[in-house]
Amino acid sequence: MCGIVAYKGKEGCSDILLSCIKNLEYRGYDSIGMALAADKSNSIEIRKDVGPIDLVDEKLNFTSMQGNKGIAHTRWATTGSVTKENSHPHFSSDQKVYVVHNGIIENYQELRKELTDLGITLNSETDSEVIPQFIAIFVKEGSSLIDAIRKTILKIKGSFAIVGMHEDEEGIFFARKESPLVIGMKETSDGSGEKEFFAASDVPAFLSYTNEVYYIEDNEYGIIKEDIVFRDIIDNKIIKKEIQHINWDIDQAKKGEYAHFMLKEIHEQKNTIVKSIQQPSSLVEEVSDILKNAFGIFFVGCGTSYHAAVSASYVFTHVAKRHVNVTIASEFRNYKDYLTDKTVVVAISQSGETADLIDAIKTAKEKGSKVVSIVNVMGSTITRMSDKNIMMNAGPEICVLSTKSYTSQLAILLLLAHAIVDKEEKAKELIRKAGEEVTKIIDNNFLLLEKIAEKIKEENSMFLIGRDLAYPSALEGALKIKEVSYIHAEGFPGGELKHGTIALIEKGTPCIVLTTEATRDMIISNASEIKVRGGYMIGINSKENEVYDEFIKIGELGHANPIAMIIPIQILAYHLALKRGCNPDKPRNLAKSVTVK
Ligand code: GLU
Repeated sequence: MCGIVAYKGKEGCSDILLSCIKNLEYRGYDSIGMALAADKSNSIEIRKDVGPIDLVDEKLNFTSMQGNKGIAHTRWATTGSVTKENSHPHFSSDQKVYVVHNGIIENYQELRKELTDLGITLNSETDSEVIPQFIAIFVKEGSSLIDAIRKTILKIKGSFAIVGMHEDEEGIFFARKESPLVIGMKETSDGSGEKEFFAASDVPAFLSYTNEVYYIEDNEYGIIKEDIVFRDIIDNKIIKKEIQHINWDIDQAKKGEYAHFMLKEIHEQKNTIVKSIQQPSSLVEEVSDILKNAFGIFFVGCGTSYHAAVSASYVFTHVAKRHVNVTIASEFRNYKDYLTDKTVVVAISQSGETADLIDAIKTAKEKGSKVVSIVNVMGSTITRMSDKNIMMNAGPEICVLSTKSYTSQLAILLLLAHAIVDKEEKAKELIRKAGEEVTKIIDNNFLLLEKIAEKIKEENSMFLIGRDLAYPSALEGALKIKEVSYIHAEGFPGGELKHGTIALIEKGTPCIVLTTEATRDMIISNASEIKVRGGYMIGINSKENEVYDEFIKIGELGHANPIAMIIPIQILAYHLALKRGCNPDKPRNLAKSVTVK
């Protein structure tokens, strides 16, 4: 959600800034802006507008801007409508301080009033503008820039990742609380020992330049000059930080031969599923011991991660005979009275920056509960808050929709459920087979799914049903279809439709029937109930049945069935998006890392 980028180093850096901010497009945004300056000079140039980066760039020609340092932003509006004035960077009335901000300033009304009471005319309707305005005021009153930044931040309630510049001062300043921010560093190749610095919401922004990073923690701030001094906002002490090496490679963040990241990432699952369970055996043992000894287990996630949690709760019941409470992260606080130091919370998030989940983890920590996270982005906020982390090993997921991260989550949770009862090898075997299934499912059904998409592309509504392990797959399948094709889709337990929603079935309503071996007879009865009312039945199953109008064959994988089942639906959703003229990588209104609550 929103992207922020900063760079300091070489002359003519507008190219670098533009390429970095483009790499964050996947996070979702509605406007773009950039400010550039020559370090220690007296002029900062700013350009910004509403719209996609390429279109705005055609109009504003960002790369003609000059300087050796700059900041850039893709805005996902939270406060103030989507207008040029509200897009970032924001600047102070004396046009000295320029800032881009990700997050929400909760006390912005109060702060805006304080500014207008001081006679300042605000340029935008945003919460963010208060930041450069206050920094400028404090500097004018005589504070050093670093003190002015700290004083400003201490006034703010809410979340922020900011980067900015002051026209009369060297360097780029930054600060962070509850919104993601990483800093990359690269020694220039000319042997001069000079350094280039990058700051961004996410590592893929600058991965093609460097994979040496500093993770910025909550309540840290500083200024990047020849080097970086990190400070604690609260006590203002200097913090020592180690640089970390990220082992993602840039090709993983490129589309390669594929038309879209969504398609690439669907295909990648044949490897990522298998990689996801390549975990240190000591970690698997430690986490399964934690789960074994827990008194109360909660699986917590949002969207797709929540569906992976629901799915895994069935496996934990069937395989490990453990009851798991599954909770949507934003609702987790309602369960706080049941949390103790014996409770274990398994927090699931692709980005590791999901604000609702971070909130849930804080609730758990307040109660002394243990937190085990399953996350894809190493070093992300959630990994730093958790007692134990299991990395998904899925590589960067660029498409806004979660595909490969979902199947990695399923695979890891399947492994843990088996590890609790010492059946790890069985899980590994199932997951290896699931990896092999991916290519078969794609190769055998890609064209059939395209034909089905052609038939149903004008429909307004579809339903997905499944029982037992296939039910959470129905939920996740519906989400994929909604997110990317904008067709209304709902997932239901097979037995549930007749309790109300069957009223919506009419001639031709598409209905996807997800079937596991154990639930076949029951779900086929439910499918017949829909078919006799006119439903167009699409079966995903290991065995053909006459109730299906279309049949997608998948291999039988026991408890790993959900991994296979979702693949054809991901592909169907992809085809539906293309046939309905939607961009599969960047669905409207959605953001990849949902960093606001
Ligand atoms: N709250 C700010 C705004 O609405 C920042 C939004 C963002 O993170 O993109 O401008």
